[in-house]
Amino acid sequence: MKNIRFSLILLLLVAIFSCAKKDVVFVTIGTGGVSGVYYPTGGAISKMVNNNFKEYGIKATAESTAGSVYNINSVLSGDLDFGIAQSDRQYQAVKGLSEWAEFGPQEKLRSVFSIHPEAITLIVSDKSGIKTIEDLVGARVNLGNPGSGQLQNSRDVLGAFGVSEDMLKSEYVKAVEAPGLVQDELLDAFFYTVGHPNVNIKEATSGRVKVHIVPIEGSPIESLLEALPYYDRAIIPHDYYELSTNTEDVPTIGVKATLVTSADVFDDIVYAFTKEVFENFDEFKTLHPAYGILTKESMLKGLSAPVHPGALKYYKEAGLTEHIKPELIK
Ligand code: GLU
Repeated sequence: MKNIRFSLILLLLVAIFSCAKKDVVFVTIGTGGVSGVYYPTGGAISKMVNNNFKEYGIKATAESTAGSVYNINSVLSGDLDFGIAQSDRQYQAVKGLSEWAEFGPQEKLRSVFSIHPEAITLIVSDKSGIKTIEDLVGARVNLGNPGSGQLQNSRDVLGAFGVSEDMLKSEYVKAVEAPGLVQDELLDAFFYTVGHPNVNIKEATSGRVKVHIVPIEGSPIESLLEALPYYDRAIIPHDYYELSTNTEDVPTIGVKATLVTSADVFDDIVYAFTKEVFENFDEFKTLHPAYGILTKESMLKGLSAPVHPGALKYYKEAGLTEHIKPELIK
């Protein structure tokens, strides 16, 4: 009798344990540096999914990473389930350009949705006397860390004005380090492609060393906008950084943050992520001021990779497919 009771308890424990184990799916989103907007965005998306743990059994977490290029590559290798990546980098990976030129088109990359706009932001110390892109010649400038989205954006902007990297004292450190280096007078300027407002630019503008944001405009930029389809005009509102010595909003160009995944990620996981963000859209929008202008339709623009079937399932249910480029529906 005792033996039977013991066996039954054991069986029950094994059943409970294996059920609990089977039910939890751990999902990781690759983001960017902790002072950017990707990191809180990964947290916001995770929160929406984790709120509904009972239904999906998913525990989502945001991981700080080097940025867009790292995230795309890690999603493709299966090291990350999702990644946040600039729309221009998504385009380049799909077409086999830039960092992917030697590897060709990345066929497994899938898009989920796009998120906030990101502006190419050039911060310079007032002391440096830099007022235009051409003034950067000879200066100590951070172009962006390897693996980041901004590295190629800095190169594109410099190239548009005929400035090459070897005409500068180029640095390649992470964005999180740049404001401190400017304040320590070890750096004159840094580029960061990022959503606004963000704590990095707030930190850079609120120290002892006074700084301003340089406009990225003029006929070279007009030509760039014509040549490269993924760039668009953008504005950095002065209100966000009142301690900068700018007196008005700063015109620049920008891209969009997007959520990407791989064709290998299961449909039900991607479905859960898409559904929770879209069905709780008003709550999602309160999680960061950079999401203020988002609409459900705008989140389906700026994508280049085919839409993942799990996301598409939700867009069909919600009647949103008409807002997606037909060639991305496979
Ligand atoms: N756009 C940057 C990148 O792709 C990241 C910006 C952020 O973390 O908000 O590396």
